Amino acid sequence: MDLKELYRDVILDHNRHPRNFGRLETSGGEVLHAEGHNPLCGDRLSVYVVLKGDRVEDIRFEGTGCAISTASASLMTEAVKGKERAAVARLFDEVHTLLTRPDAAAEATLGKLAALSGVREFPARVKCATLSWHTLNAALERGAATVSTE
Ligand code: ZN
Repeated sequence: MDLKELYRDVILDHNRHPRNFGRLETSGGEVLHAEGHNPLCGDRLSVYVVLKGDRVEDIRFEGTGCAISTASASLMTEAVKGKERAAVARLFDEVHTLLTRPDAAAEATLGKLAALSGVREFPARVKCATLSWHTLNAALERGAATVSTE
């Protein structure tokens, strides 16, 4: 199996079986929440985050969208859970670079997120892949309730 097939399988798997999917219920603490919308594709996501200090204690998402937006959100929740906000911001920078620079190599720190590199062959889908990240940022900033990729 070559890398491209492996990456495609990761996307298909996370689309069919999204991780951390569904509303986040918590007994204590504030749940940060934001909605994201990508009008170009019709993707809609809600992201729920519980912060403990500066660390993402828990994160879930729900919504409907294309395979790339769902898989990307699923991969994102796995990648950022347990990380400090600064590390989350660095990770988003790396993902954004991977998605927008045709020759960017996947950083080892990306782990499974490297599977998103296939998206850059379809520039119109980059917003599908970044929607969950923009929505997460909005939730962490505790104000912007709705983000749109446009
Ligand atoms: Zn989409």
